[in-house]
Amino acid sequence: MTALHAVRFRDEFEMRCEVCDGWWPMSPEFWYPRRGVSRCLACLRDKDAVWRRTQRPRPAQRRKTVTWQSALRKRLQGRAAQARYYRGHADEVRAKRRAAYYAAKVAA
Ligand SMILES: [Zn+2]
Repeated sequence: MTALHAVRFRDEFEMRCEVCDGWWPMSPEFWYPRRGVSRCLACLRDKDAVWRRTQRPRPAQRRKTVTWQSALRKRLQGRAAQARYYRGHADEVRAKRRAAYYAAKVAA
């Protein structure tokens, strides 16, 4: 794509922003050429702010993130809790399992 950009000289070279129609000096204070020269820096920042408002809030993104470390940690915590419970209630658990086993045997 070929684009023509309005440039003029008044004391120094100035370029016209296509969005706000302002003439701004050709300096990094007003332009960021890596993102094109059709918008001045202020208009680029406005555009970025609009885009940022369309993004999800950060906490929601973080809640969804499950890394393999966090998944493993959660699983190991669950197993540790199970082992702790069994150590405290071994007789109860064994009786419950025995009852379930014989119930299944009778049913079969
Ligand atoms: Zn502008």
